[in-house]
Amino acid sequence: MDFTPTRARGQQRLAEFLPSAGRHYAETRNGDDGPAEGGRANVSQLSPWLHAGLLGETEVLEAVLSVHSPRAAEKFIAEVFWRIYFKGYLEQRPAIWTDFAKGRDGALAALDANAGLRKAYAEAVEGRTGIAAFDVWAKELVETGYLHNHARMWFASIWIFTLKLDWRLGADFFLRHLMDADAASNTLSWRWVAGLHTKGKHYLARADNIARYTAGRPGGVLDASGLAGDEARPLTEPQEYARQKLDLPTPVSAADLAAPFALLLHDEAAHHAPLAIPAAPALVIGADRHDARSPGEVGAHAQAFARGALASGMAEAAATFACPATEWRAGEPLAPLLAAGGLERIALPYLPAGWTRDALWPDLAPLMAQGRVVTLLPDVDRATWPLAKAGFFGVAKGIEGILAECGISGIGW
Ligand SMILES: Cc1cc2nc3c(=O)[nH]c(=O)nc-3n(C[C@H](O)[C@H](O)[C@H](O)COP(=O)(O)OP(=O)(O)OC[C@H]3O[C@@H](n4cnc5c(N)ncnc54)[C@H](O)[C@@H]3O)c2cc1C
Repeated sequence: MDFTPTRARGQQRLAEFLPSAGRHYAETRNGDDGPAEGGRANVSQLSPWLHAGLLGETEVLEAVLSVHSPRAAEKFIAEVFWRIYFKGYLEQRPAIWTDFAKGRDGALAALDANAGLRKAYAEAVEGRTGIAAFDVWAKELVETGYLHNHARMWFASIWIFTLKLDWRLGADFFLRHLMDADAASNTLSWRWVAGLHTKGKHYLARADNIARYTAGRPGGVLDASGLAGDEARPLTEPQEYARQKLDLPTPVSAADLAAPFALLLHDEAAHHAPLAIPAAPALVIGADRHDARSPGEVGAHAQAFARGALASGMAEAAATFACPATEWRAGEPLAPLLAAGGLERIALPYLPAGWTRDALWPDLAPLMAQGRVVTLLPDVDRATWPLAKAGFFGVAKGIEGILAECGISGIGW
């Protein structure tokens, strides 16, 4: 599969997958058929482009609805909304992210202090546990930067309930290697498997289920003998995460950007096109903080995708708006870049809870306090996040209304 980190390649993959996004997707999406040269046939593999903001959810939904009826594409549309739901949920409980980061650091320190744990962890991430299916996925993740959704669920479940490793170390392993590594989808999915997201409801991987849904792999069914059985209990935690009120920016108009301004592109919004910015910037600033996702080393595929996404996004924005582009490097202050261009304001694609926000916020907060930041948030997030209060159901039942409210209707079916 060609994971070139450009908007053009994302659009091409979207076009390739579109015919399959209807009933075919609903019927076949659960199969982990293994990596394929031309891309998997049953899932879109669009997640790296979506995470990097090279593609936006709105245009993906529009494209799907232009060739399939809402009924036929219901399942695919719902999955795209899972991504938006997780973002909105974490936005209302950002302490889940900060606690994850603290817990991960504690778990990494515990590895340093305990040779037995260190050995078990090394066997897991190097694919040497002896559980054949798990070992295949551990290597596949490192070697390709992608895992099928079902494989992610099985892998997380075996990590937590069979290998009994700290879930935060597993979530960190995913963040370091996934090209689509996303603070909200990853942290909350690991918590969901563990039984922490929907309290008391955990996900137990079973060998027969794994065999059934890996039958399409080129090497045949993956064996997963010796997994934890029904006796494995969901994880628990002492803290409750109370929901905090969303404070969303209002829609941006051209009048808000009347004076010359800089557009900030970052790891979760690397391209200007999905931002639908209503005025042309005088300067493009690119902030690559992909290595802030973990204290550990970021895998080669994840690193290449993140770097390439921002580089291609900056070059295309500079060409489109006929303006210079400059890098804002980690550790350097932002204000001088604006001052050098004689610019007062900065247009900022919304920074959701996660490492990108953690890395950029200390410099942006003072500008925000001075009223110099104009925040861009897609309508579909503004409409969905308030519904992401508890379970996904709240969002699921609002999808039709959200699509209508945001004018996402597609054409031609
Ligand atoms: C333990 C675990 C960790 C995960 N970590 C991440 C992560 O770091 N980043 C990430 O983007 N997704 C994550 N997911 C969700 C999901 O596995 C991936 O989004 C999906 O596999 C991406 O492949 P695709 O693009 O072919 O998806 P498709 O099936 O083609 O779906 C289309 C799009 O919908 C979204 N989507 C699909 N399934 C989900 C889901 N279950 N949750 C949220 N969004 C979804 C993705 O943006 C995806 O690109 C995780 C799931 C689990 C169980």
